[in-house]
Amino acid sequence: MGSFRQRVFSGVQPTGNLHLGNYLGAIKRFVEIQESFECIYCVVDLHALTQPVSVWGGPKELARNTREVTAAYIAAGIDAKKHIVFNQSQVPQHAELAWIFNCVARLGWLNRMTQFKEKAGKDRENASVGLYAYPNLMAADILVYHATHVPVGEDQKQHLELSRDIAQKFNNDFAESIAEAGYEDGFFQLPEPLIAGPATRVMSLRDGTKKMSKSDPSDLSRINLTDDSDEIVRKVRKAKTDPEPLPSETEGLATRPEAMNLLGIYAGLTGQTVEMVLKDMGGCQFSAFKQALIDVAVDKLGPIGAEMKKLMADPSHIDSILVDGAARAEAIARPIFDDVKKIIGFVRA
Ligand code: ATP
Ligand code: MG
Repeated sequence: MGSFRQRVFSGVQPTGNLHLGNYLGAIKRFVEIQESFECIYCVVDLHALTQPVSVWGGPKELARNTREVTAAYIAAGIDAKKHIVFNQSQVPQHAELAWIFNCVARLGWLNRMTQFKEKAGKDRENASVGLYAYPNLMAADILVYHATHVPVGEDQKQHLELSRDIAQKFNNDFAESIAEAGYEDGFFQLPEPLIAGPATRVMSLRDGTKKMSKSDPSDLSRINLTDDSDEIVRKVRKAKTDPEPLPSETEGLATRPEAMNLLGIYAGLTGQTVEMVLKDMGGCQFSAFKQALIDVAVDKLGPIGAEMKKLMADPSHIDSILVDGAARAEAIARPIFDDVKKIIGFVRA
């Protein structure tokens, strides 16, 4: 005991408007690392509830969006047979461990979370308790599987650090009991974030200083995975730029967030670094660069959007993937959570 398999866990919320940032920062990476890890990919429906109902859209939308994220996973190339794809609410150990973590994490830790501040906005008194405790549930999502690696976009880095703090505090608080249960090096291993590549933080097409987000009221701010080629053309053409041609070195991008963003997107879609793109495109006018970006975006996203539509036409097939995945996920989570109960001292049969 005490040795951990290399296991990946990550998730996407079913909050609608899946976009290019979700693809480049998360889903595309999920696909790539399937070769090297055992992977668990979740549709985190419990997390969706942390926002007001008007944002996640109510029961029908939640179900639809849950299936849509699943369709995006499969269409992008995740193998749900070899790995695990499921929705969070079907595996009760997530919420149960989250309660325990509510009692491990400190108020002071959560008070520092920038996502809560951004999402709660000015009307903090009116934010849900769930939005505040979101990072504790996220820690439970990861640790209930003893996951070792977590591919996420840059915006989730702080939450991952909190997951590590929670794992560490649990290991300390219950050190004696953990050792008695036969775990020599602590019960939870500290999970490693996997945040890499040129597009870990894709920005809004309308404002290079704001994250591309599902909840931005302007549809022009993002490219959705279900956008058709006409919409992609329109959005890229309207994307904010500056009057200068592209520089030939990355240093020239320091004060040009919109140029940096479009280059990061291009690099992410073509599997290059921004440096490599600038070698080819340095000196180009935006009009020419945007055309190249449109071509590659249509080429890469078109087939994914088309496959998502096909999959969405058969909801019962999607549901069967989720049910099968949930059973396999719970088979991993249950024994780990049973050990948590034993370690804490909950009396059980
Ligand atoms: P919401 O506004 O509802 O939080 P979101 O777009 O942030 O939506 P999430 O479901 O919270 O999407 O995040 C899913 C994954 O996508 C996470 O790993 C997150 O880090 C990543 N991600 C989200 N937005 C971006 C972005 N703009 N660039 C890169 N990665 C992103
Ligand atoms: Mg988010």
